Amino acid sequence: MSVEQLYKRLHQIPELAFEEFETSKLIQQELCKIGIPFKVICGTGVVGLIDVGKDKTILLRADIDALPIKEKTELEYSSKNDNMHACGHDAHVAMLLAASKEIFSNKSKLNCNVKFIFQPGEERAGGASKLVNEGVLENPRVDACFAMHVWPSLAAGTLGLKNGVLTALGTRFTIEISAPGGHIAEVKPNKNPIYVASKILTEVEKLWRKDARIHISKIKSGIGSGNIIDTKCVMTGEARVLCASDADNFITTLRNICVKVGNETGLVVKFDFQIAKEYPSVVNNKGMNELINQITLPYMAIKWIENPSFGCEDFSNYAQNGAVSSFVLLGCTPSEYIGTNAIHTPIFKLDLSALSLGAKIFTDVALNYSG
Ligand SMILES: [Zn+2]
Ligand SMILES: [Zn+2]
Repeated sequence: MSVEQLYKRLHQIPELAFEEFETSKLIQQELCKIGIPFKVICGTGVVGLIDVGKDKTILLRADIDALPIKEKTELEYSSKNDNMHACGHDAHVAMLLAASKEIFSNKSKLNCNVKFIFQPGEERAGGASKLVNEGVLENPRVDACFAMHVWPSLAAGTLGLKNGVLTALGTRFTIEISAPGGHIAEVKPNKNPIYVASKILTEVEKLWRKDARIHISKIKSGIGSGNIIDTKCVMTGEARVLCASDADNFITTLRNICVKVGNETGLVVKFDFQIAKEYPSVVNNKGMNELINQITLPYMAIKWIENPSFGCEDFSNYAQNGAVSSFVLLGCTPSEYIGTNAIHTPIFKLDLSALSLGAKIFTDVALNYSG
């Protein structure tokens, strides 16, 4: 199948994290046809290897999972179920499969071994760290890692590169307010957990900064009819930071807010947090970016990105034990949709011309990497 055929086929069968059974089967069939030996890992993950007996090994990665979004693009190859490849992981798989065929037929030119990772569960469940725990970085040991993400703010034909920190570290937190509850005719404002939650919400929103993001995303309280004040209100939120010290600062500040509001109201305000260990920041290697810049300059418009993204990406897990890595942003938006196209929406669209360019980039990176 051509890269476009693969993409359209995958686009019709989107599957959620660790349920990518049909997707995994298709990947395995394609690798079989090409002749690349592979192993199935963590249920639906696939790891192919071209071992040419070199000292160095490069890892090329595509994530394979989709999202629980009902597609509204009206494309003739729209999703056939209630999920959607609204993050473009179908494109990543199609491009890496097309590249694996090209790399395999040029394996005599390789200066390194090539490991192909088709990774389940990027959107949630931390698929990359699970694969790493299963030993995906060993046998042979990985020296460099490379991946792409389709990027809707860039037009097809553009490649976004950024040195250093590219993505954020996430910290999830919950705040639980316990109150006596009671009849609406009797409860005082300071004892209404929803009112107390609103005081905390107001304080939290003031913490939002350009270089460190924080929001309350869920508030849950209330039972039965309108005349009962609940005994509890639970707030859930998330902070996205670019350095670990900012996460520590947010945790201290949130804890102080909870203590202050607890003292003011006499209610019990509990605070708990969880740092997303499976999604550390992606940090790109300058030397590897420079190599990608040189390789792709003849056929891509290179855009050096200034600001990091506040998204999270578990590709960061592969850059361990001294392995360098680069994660680049592949322009994918049809010119008529520039400014309105976005991932994780039911109308996300991809310019098909981005696919063969992405496949070429994967191929050229493997063929030019020598360590
Ligand atoms: Zn996504
Ligand atoms: Zn994604």
